[in-house]
Amino acid sequence: MKTLAELTFDNRFARLGDTFSTEVLPQPLADPQLVVASTAAMALLDLDSSQADDPLFAELFSGHKLWSEAEPRAMVYSGHQFGSYNPRLGDGRGLLLGEVRNEAGQHWDLHLKGAGKTPYSRMGDGRAVLRSSIREFLASEHLHALGIPSSRALCVTSSSTPVYRETRERGAMLLRLAPSHVRFGNFEFFYYTKQHDALKQLLDHVIECHFPDCLEHPEPYHSFFREVLERTAGMIARWQAYGFCHGVMNTDNMSILGITFDFGPYAFLDDFDAHFICNHSDDGGRYSYENQVPIAHWNLAALAQALTPFVEVQALRASMDLFLPLYEAAWLDLMRKRLGLIDARDDDKELIQRLLQLMQDSSVDYTRFFRELGDSPAEQSVRRLREDFLDLAGFDAWAAAYRERAGNGPQDERQERMHAVNPRYILRNYLAQQAIEAAEQGDFTPVRELHQVLSRPFDDQPGMERYAERPPEWGKHLEISCSS
Ligand code: AMP
Ligand code: MG
Ligand code: MG
Repeated sequence: MKTLAELTFDNRFARLGDTFSTEVLPQPLADPQLVVASTAAMALLDLDSSQADDPLFAELFSGHKLWSEAEPRAMVYSGHQFGSYNPRLGDGRGLLLGEVRNEAGQHWDLHLKGAGKTPYSRMGDGRAVLRSSIREFLASEHLHALGIPSSRALCVTSSSTPVYRETRERGAMLLRLAPSHVRFGNFEFFYYTKQHDALKQLLDHVIECHFPDCLEHPEPYHSFFREVLERTAGMIARWQAYGFCHGVMNTDNMSILGITFDFGPYAFLDDFDAHFICNHSDDGGRYSYENQVPIAHWNLAALAQALTPFVEVQALRASMDLFLPLYEAAWLDLMRKRLGLIDARDDDKELIQRLLQLMQDSSVDYTRFFRELGDSPAEQSVRRLREDFLDLAGFDAWAAAYRERAGNGPQDERQERMHAVNPRYILRNYLAQQAIEAAEQGDFTPVRELHQVLSRPFDDQPGMERYAERPPEWGKHLEISCSS
């Protein structure tokens, strides 16, 4: 274990130079207070939980102090936003402080979000509000606990500095961790500005640091694309299986590592609804729940385009064609597990889709259904769950097929297997909202408790039952906009 002062930096991205990022110092917020910290994320830096009590912790993560080895920089990128190319984005309010190398030899980017203006801020103020910082913190750590690849969050600090959005809000900073902050948009920037030497340098860097196995391949750049595509397909399969809606799947919010990244107005489904749009600003529903699959494919095509100077178009196309089959295989695998099925059969997809359609038609709670399905033997569970459906004949037909398919194995084993993949607790928007409202009043206990509960989503936690309840009706219709 280390103290905060003992972190070892190895700033590989900074060494790429000014073509890829610009030096910028963090601009501190007034009266920093630690809102919440993740001990699991601290462990990635070899910090034990007591380090969060050190006053230095809040000072470092609110921009007041800096390690002498840190080299804060704003990265340059571009990207497709809602389908249109924006030639110049970049870190407008977040800074890569540096890369920490932990005792296991892993590198973790320290990225401070809300650290002030940069050359890429455009019209923005360079700040982040407490509300969105808490939302990103909770989601990052919860997704990770659910087994969904994600960037991580070390802590949120709040301040008395006001930040103006639709109303006056509290300024805050989030410290994000990820092995890399390179996005699809970093490659697009160098492709569309015709800086092919820089594009190659970025490719070589990312492959060397994050995809070394591709170097064994006769065509490392193509192999790299294939790997990004495979990881992205796996990530999207998990999003869909657990009902996670990202909200702003622009190519600048797509991590090159295939991890969930740059959270906007995300949501987990309450009632199952394939057409659900979590982003109140997404009028056309481009990023609706069901569109996440074709949009991920579209985003991969945008990345492929940026790689055309170095990879044959035919090869890129052949890889692109693998996306849907890879996605579907991963999704089916997880959905079978969620249903407690051990082996695979040809008609499983139909069985799952029939269930989802029934859930859609009756607005059934997506998370609770699967958890309760494992609580008792299949026959008893479906009898109880039947009450939630309007189309009783349709449900009975499905339930008969499911009971036959589920077989009669020992219930204790079935429950253990199913509860290990079906969370008891999910990050519902209304739970986040309640914790945020308390934090805005200076009470950080609710957000800390919610984070604790959500970091063990599969465990029954005595005394925490209220977090697993059905959401209130108002809680299902919160309008979450892009403003953050
Ligand atoms: P996002 O929608 O958060 O993914 O951000 C899209 C782009 O806008 C990125 O280049 C951000 O850095 C930038 N951005 C978002 N909010 C702000 C802000 N308040 N100040 C400066 N830049 C911002
Ligand atoms: Mg972004
Ligand atoms: Mg963002």
